[in-house]
Amino acid sequence: MDLSIIIPIYNEEANIPTLYQRLRGVIDPMGLRCEYIFINDGSRDRSLELIHALAAQYADVRYINFSRNFGHQIAVTAGLDLSQGEAVVIIDADLQDPPELIPELYQKMREGYEVVYAKRRRREGESAMKLFTAKMFYRILANITNVSIPVDTGDFRIISRKVVEALKLMPEQNKFLRGQISWIGYRQSYIEYDRAQRAGGETGYTYRKMFRLAIDGITAFSDVPLKAATIMGFTVSGIAFLVLLYTLYSRFIIKNYEPGWPSLMVSILFLGGVQLIAVGVIGEYLARLNNNVRRRPLYIISDTNIPVELNPQALP
Ligand code: UDP
Ligand code: MG
Repeated sequence: MDLSIIIPIYNEEANIPTLYQRLRGVIDPMGLRCEYIFINDGSRDRSLELIHALAAQYADVRYINFSRNFGHQIAVTAGLDLSQGEAVVIIDADLQDPPELIPELYQKMREGYEVVYAKRRRREGESAMKLFTAKMFYRILANITNVSIPVDTGDFRIISRKVVEALKLMPEQNKFLRGQISWIGYRQSYIEYDRAQRAGGETGYTYRKMFRLAIDGITAFSDVPLKAATIMGFTVSGIAFLVLLYTLYSRFIIKNYEPGWPSLMVSILFLGGVQLIAVGVIGEYLARLNNNVRRRPLYIISDTNIPVELNPQALP
């Protein structure tokens, strides 16, 4: 198998047929042995039916049907786990990642790269809020981590078998694939493109899911927030100590002091806030630690047409 195309699906009934036709349109001329892996991530529309129909009609269509919605990153992980291609493309189902870019990605990879990602030059038809939060997130993450994770880049990319095998060795439960792929290293490159609007349907990435992804990315690739809690603690204690000195000074030396509760309240609230933030930060890391200690399988497959010997979950 030369190429695997991994397509996570969550309520994409409006896009599946067009997507497959467009993919075939660009990949058939490349003359490669290719498989299309659709991962149905607990869709609540007719997506699964459409995928089953495609699989019945075309021999190169594989599907993995999850037992429920596990999230985009896990769906892609399942696809990677069960893929066979020497090269693997990760692409969104909503046609925001143009399939027409795949030959270029593939070509660039053949020039000697293990990873070629597609970097967004512009993003069409996305709300100002989404653009702003995404931009902020990529910048903040870039600033607080040692791994150089490319900014303005989603999961749309081509990776080699070597990288897929390396990803399989990373057992973390809270996946942030673009960070993990950067962490793996090798020669990586990119091409630029203008991101189109969603072809049909609605985004499955609620702000809640985006926020989880952002926190997963940060906690997986940076300890800065943990350290920030310590620094904040020291700063506030330092200020409190100075205030204490000043209070003693005004009480006993210049004997001119206001018996006031406002300053008291302010310092209590301030300290309380800082403590809560610090505890919250520790909690975020602890929750992830706990998640990983549980060692649950990442996903549960309800049915698939991929042979059992490739399916680690089906083995005893
Ligand atoms: N997706 C998924 N599980 C989810 C949410 C999204 O598999 O819980 C898929 C979705 O079908 C699409 C891709 O992930 O193929 C990207 O999602 P979406 O286009 O909704 O995200 P956006 O482009 O708005 O960030
Ligand atoms: Mg999208």
